[in-house]
Amino acid sequence: MRRLCLILGDQLNRDSTLFNEFDPQQDQLWMAEVQAESQHVWSHKQRIAVFLAAMRHFAAALRAEALPLDYLVLGEHHFASLSAALAATLEQSQPEEVWLVRPGDYRVLGEIVQVCREQDIPLRQLTDKHFLSTPGEFKTWVGAKQPRMEFWYRVLRKRYAILMAGDKPVGGKWNYDHDNRGTFGKAGPENLPPPTLFAADEVTQTVLQTVQQHFPDHPGELERLHWPVTPGQAQQVLARFFEQVLPHFGQYQDAMWTGQPFLYHALIASALNLKLLDPLTVIQQAEQHYHTGAAPLAAVEGFIRQILGWREYVRGLYWLHMPDWYGMNALAAERDLPDFYWTGDTEMNCLRESIGQTLRYGYAHHIQRLMVTGLFAQLYGVQPQQVHAWYLAVYVDAVEWVELPNTLGMSQYADGGIMASKPYIASGNYINKMSNYCRHCRFKPAQAVGAEACPFTTLFWDFLARHEARFAGHPRMGFMLKNLQRKSAEERAAIQEQAVQFYARSC
Ligand SMILES: Cc1cc2nc3c(=O)[nH]c(=O)nc-3n(C[C@H](O)[C@H](O)[C@H](O)COP(=O)(O)OP(=O)(O)OC[C@H]3O[C@@H](n4cnc5c(N)ncnc54)[C@H](O)[C@@H]3O)c2cc1C
Ligand code: SF4
Repeated sequence: MRRLCLILGDQLNRDSTLFNEFDPQQDQLWMAEVQAESQHVWSHKQRIAVFLAAMRHFAAALRAEALPLDYLVLGEHHFASLSAALAATLEQSQPEEVWLVRPGDYRVLGEIVQVCREQDIPLRQLTDKHFLSTPGEFKTWVGAKQPRMEFWYRVLRKRYAILMAGDKPVGGKWNYDHDNRGTFGKAGPENLPPPTLFAADEVTQTVLQTVQQHFPDHPGELERLHWPVTPGQAQQVLARFFEQVLPHFGQYQDAMWTGQPFLYHALIASALNLKLLDPLTVIQQAEQHYHTGAAPLAAVEGFIRQILGWREYVRGLYWLHMPDWYGMNALAAERDLPDFYWTGDTEMNCLRESIGQTLRYGYAHHIQRLMVTGLFAQLYGVQPQQVHAWYLAVYVDAVEWVELPNTLGMSQYADGGIMASKPYIASGNYINKMSNYCRHCRFKPAQAVGAEACPFTTLFWDFLARHEARFAGHPRMGFMLKNLQRKSAEERAAIQEQAVQFYARSC
């Protein structure tokens, strides 16, 4: 064998560079389903099923092209980990080289490098053409400056001529984020388009049984799969988004509503991350909706910014700061993740709603992740690595290169400011403004002390008090700290006492 070409579970794009020089006469494709990839974090059943179903559909498509593929099926081999499976294949087939598109995950890359080294077989890493920038380009661009998403986004807007009029942004502004803070008002969202669902074909049916059989005690529901697992299905999800949702995208991006898990979100992150969708095509199609007048500029720009801006930026940061990022804990947070993160069993309605839908669908939208589950963990002082393990486990779109920066960086400030210039913190009043969760909660968002005090509000003030010295002089924390300092000594003592009682109770 000349080359063994590895395809990982999140590398399911047929236009991958792996196929460029592939010769079916001399080379072999290799894919493996292994238990450890679903167990290194306690993965949600929907997440496991999405990966396995998408992998099996991709394998079927490769076989239909008569490409030589060695595919290890879960339960039909005894290898516990990816490295064990790969080591056995290499020993047996002795290829001249191993080829691999750069993995999205530092841990997986390390495993593969080590196995190849142990077997003394050269490993060639190929550029991942799915992304619109490379980690190397990002590193060069960063140089010695403090990188911010907005400026990398502008570089890529220009490079791919997206929403550009010559060298100026269409409409005169790069960013319409200010137009994106809408709430639903008392009546709530109306006529929301339902998500696209697919009947499970035979491949998916078998995967659902496999997951129930091999991972019965894993979190999450799996009566049916809610997510696309083929490029065709992913296109249908995208078409629904463009036709029915995009015009409202930015406007309600930060809003939340009881019983409405999907609102005006695209629901494409898992399809993008498994590479069932090509990001540049998605971006260009979105842009067309602006040019044809089907969607306003603010909505289209807001959507494109998520993919061309945030998605590329977090990947650049991930590779720039790994492996150091993983261990960071700038705020010295040491509490355990409360058990209710795995059950949704809590009196706090915002958390009950956000975690409940997470367990049902493997999905919560960005503001639920950042400003409900992430916010609580940060205010409560949960050890960031436990928060990271939870986010990596419970979302269908969770892959480490995107999850880790969002969790340890944006949501927990564990990196001390690599990703976010200040902690994303707020009291219960923010959740009250952006949702109707508080209306159905026994706590009162404006109250920091007393029997009905909202834990978010108590812990918000307590967080500021705990970290007052650290953030003194921080240009973007001054306003919050001044509000804290306006409180009398008695008020501060009462808040602290309330927080101590809350920590002492099992929540
Ligand atoms: C703590 C935390 C953990 C997260 N973990 C993940 C993760 O594991 N995988 C993941 O893909 N996203 C993650 N995100 C980012 C974001 O929440 C999800 O991409 C989004 O909610 C997916 O839903 P959607 O497809 O409906 O996205 P939409 O809100 O409709 O956005 C469209 C697309 O933009 C991209 N995008 C949006 N925000 C971000 C962001 N902050 N970083 C990178 N890409 C973004 C996604 O590809 C998304 O599909 C996380 C955010 C937070 C705060
Ligand atoms: S009152 Fe507090 S705990 Fe209850 S829903 Fe509102 S923010 Fe959440």
